[in-house]
Amino acid sequence: MIWHTCKVECNRLIAPEVFELTFSPLLPFKAGQMVHIAIEPKNTKRLYSLASGENDPAMTVIFDLRQSGQLTPLLSRLSAGSTIYSSTPHGSFFAKPGPAWWIATGTGIAPFRSMLRSGLGEDKKLIHGGRFLESFYYSEEFKSMGNQYVRCCSQQQHESVYAGRLTKYLQETPLPGKDYSYYLCGSAEMVVDTRDLLISRGVSFEKIVSEIYF
Ligand SMILES: Cc1cc2nc3c(=O)[nH]c(=O)nc-3n(C[C@H](O)[C@H](O)[C@H](O)COP(=O)(O)OP(=O)(O)OC[C@H]3O[C@@H](n4cnc5c(N)ncnc54)[C@H](O)[C@@H]3O)c2cc1C
Repeated sequence: MIWHTCKVECNRLIAPEVFELTFSPLLPFKAGQMVHIAIEPKNTKRLYSLASGENDPAMTVIFDLRQSGQLTPLLSRLSAGSTIYSSTPHGSFFAKPGPAWWIATGTGIAPFRSMLRSGLGEDKKLIHGGRFLESFYYSEEFKSMGNQYVRCCSQQQHESVYAGRLTKYLQETPLPGKDYSYYLCGSAEMVVDTRDLLISRGVSFEKIVSEIYF
């Protein structure tokens, strides 16, 4: 693996225990790709989807702090000027042309933010699942999608969000035409449940593209 030495530009909380880490230099990538990140290449490395746009001046990832995890407690303590290491961006979770639904839970929103910021939001609907109202990071940016941006909140209610889990929303909502693709990103549980639900509702397997955070 080729490691690039990077400088942290900013590390900030965007929700309880969720951090946004921005670093440079910008390495060329396609929206939807990921990088390995390490504090020290010989030690623990983990994968993170890029949340920044292809033309942003720096690269951004978002991560959940796992209190007893190996890497994220160290990442959470980084500050501007710290050194980290990034792999060359890779992965094939690309937004292909054509209409699609983007479906994410938690930090699985990252590749879709990258796609939106890279100008790939046309003909797309974004469905984001989270437990609390504060779980909908970047909602101010996604509001540019109008009624094609749906937040499914499982543990709090508010007029701006659908009350319930993302899978309940998908079960109750008419699905679009057969030309639509479905991009799923998040936990294995969400991806498997959503994939099975879509298939049971007549979506063909080939139309479903998944990125699992494990
Ligand atoms: C393609 C891909 C993209 C990803 N993108 C993102 C992203 O954009 N944002 C994001 O937040 N995450 C993402 N992830 C997940 C990320 O790579 C890390 O797995 C995550 O950040 C946890 O790393 P960690 O080293 O802090 O925790 P780990 O050390 O990996 O531990 C994870 C959890 O498992 C528990 N654990 C560890 N070892 C054991 C054990 N032996 N027994 C029981 N429990 C144990 C820990 O307590 C912790 O809660 C992605 C994963 C993949 C595969």
